Amino acid sequence: MSESKNTWVQVAALPKCNFCGDAANYDGATTLGPWANMCEKCFAYYGRGLGLGVGQRLVLSLRDELLTDAQLNEASRIASIIKPAQAGLTK
Ligand SMILES: [Zn+2]
Repeated sequence: MSESKNTWVQVAALPKCNFCGDAANYDGATTLGPWANMCEKCFAYYGRGLGLGVGQRLVLSLRDELLTDAQLNEASRIASIIKPAQAGLTK
């Protein structure tokens, strides 16, 4: 399974959150139905998790060497939040 790869997508620029207008860090299905770009806060409220067909984290492709450490820390932090919800969705 390559599930982890499906939780990331590299973008040249972060889109705006469809809910509040902040920079969006996620593109995914919402509890309201349609997909949306979401910032971290709105993803916590409306996001349905990360994974194929559910949601993806948007990662800036610029300066990826510099971003990698921070992103890994961020990803593991978010994974600890998302995983319980994701487990509930997939099972
Ligand atoms: Zn937002």
